[in-house]
Amino acid sequence: MPHRPLEELTFDNTYARLAEAFYAKLHPTPFSEPPHLISFNPAAAELIDLDPDEAKRPEFSAVFGGSMLISGMEPLAMLYSGHQFGVYVPQLGDGRAILLGEARNEQGGKWDLHLKGAGLTPFSREGDGRAVLRSTIREYLCSEAMYGLGIPTTRALCIVGSNHKVYREQVETGAMLVRMAPSHVRFGSFEILYYRKQHELLKVLADYVIAIHFPHLAEGTDKYARFFSEVVERTAKLIAQWQAVGWAHGVMNTDNMSIHGITLDYGPFGFIDDYDPGFICNHSDHNGRYAFNQQPYIGLWNLSCLAQALLPLAPKEDLKAALDRYTPLCEGRYMELMRAKIGLIETKEEDASLIQDLLALMQLHHVDYTNFFRALGLFQTGAESLNNPLRDFFLDRESFDRWARRYESRLREEGSRDEDRLARMNRVNPKYVLRNYLAQTAIEKAQQKDFSEIDRLLTLLQNPYSDQPGKDAYAASPPNWGKHLSVSCSS
Ligand code: AMP
Ligand code: MG
Repeated sequence: MPHRPLEELTFDNTYARLAEAFYAKLHPTPFSEPPHLISFNPAAAELIDLDPDEAKRPEFSAVFGGSMLISGMEPLAMLYSGHQFGVYVPQLGDGRAILLGEARNEQGGKWDLHLKGAGLTPFSREGDGRAVLRSTIREYLCSEAMYGLGIPTTRALCIVGSNHKVYREQVETGAMLVRMAPSHVRFGSFEILYYRKQHELLKVLADYVIAIHFPHLAEGTDKYARFFSEVVERTAKLIAQWQAVGWAHGVMNTDNMSIHGITLDYGPFGFIDDYDPGFICNHSDHNGRYAFNQQPYIGLWNLSCLAQALLPLAPKEDLKAALDRYTPLCEGRYMELMRAKIGLIETKEEDASLIQDLLALMQLHHVDYTNFFRALGLFQTGAESLNNPLRDFFLDRESFDRWARRYESRLREEGSRDEDRLARMNRVNPKYVLRNYLAQTAIEKAQQKDFSEIDRLLTLLQNPYSDQPGKDAYAASPPNWGKHLSVSCSS
């Protein structure tokens, strides 16, 4: 791995080569107080060939605290619109984030360095352009946790904080997060050009995205429909992964949907503790539009918005045909993941009801989603009494026993061996997820200027499937205070 100093990062800035209609060029606005490094993620630095020791230099906090640019960066705020809670909002755009530049690594990979909380932009509307420390910690930790889980996502390089005051419900301090992604093009990036009837620009954007990010689709007249079809596929698979791991995004507006099929824009997200399919993690989502069990459907709804925006470029029937692939893809992938979660190898008709009945039971008995699946790996065939720790997850143990008998006979049908199954299941059922209360603990310490818990969680969550000695407490279901923490939209 090459290890370059900060000043030797190389930038490409392909987005800045597009017409000015796509963005506004501007510099970040530094904090009113000196910046300091809060946390740094060496795993993300590696993606851009950055020497991890560079984080110790004051220049590092200066650059990623928005007060200094390095040569080659061409900062800009991207323009987009989107459907928010089902309603079209004609103009959104990066209101508090600035694309600093597109770093190239030696393998030819391109990573947007996006500075979130970098001050006002022409798209800030009534916002202040800032992010509070609390929300940057949540995004930083969760994006790396998702990566650790094997779920496509933006990455996070660092958090830089300062004593700069930011006014929310109370006075807080501001922070900036460096987020990384192949690009930050969203469904809404296309929607704005469609609704503004700028169909020439729409084509420019589609050609750009295909050339840079989907080069395997570049040939042929039907490339726009094939591009859409690939976004459908990636999105379907992404959402299947969210469902299987028990994670809710919370604000699935079309401006928060990446055309790469990666998890984008972490706000009031939540991992489910006690299994509840109607789980609403966003305190401001009064109607439950983005409830956990609505996500697959919302994925389809959002893709249909993107299809609409691509109508000037591709035949309606082709877009419709691609859209029709979504539900079978998402459901198929979800079933594969759930089969693996209960340790099955073969595919049988009855698996769907076996899984559904288990989930129904878990809901009824308020069973912890993550911990139960992790524990299920220890299921022993042929010895009911040895499964007592599993039975104890349920208030009515007999109803679990009834399910367990079906499960056991299903396992026997495929000649499942306990030891092999445990090893397989431990690779797909995480032990550690970023429960809200864990994030909250790190936040409260950070607000007292102790940032150590952020680093501890980062390391822990980058390996969520391994038992980590001395870390069992991090796998505990939430204490009472941590069960119903209120988190809402942008902060
Ligand atoms: P989000 O809910 O974070 O996806 O944001 C939705 C829109 O509001 C995007 O256009 C953001 O850039 C913008 N926005 C959110 N918070 C702020 C803020 N504090 N200042 C300016 N714009 C913001
Ligand atoms: Mg957003």
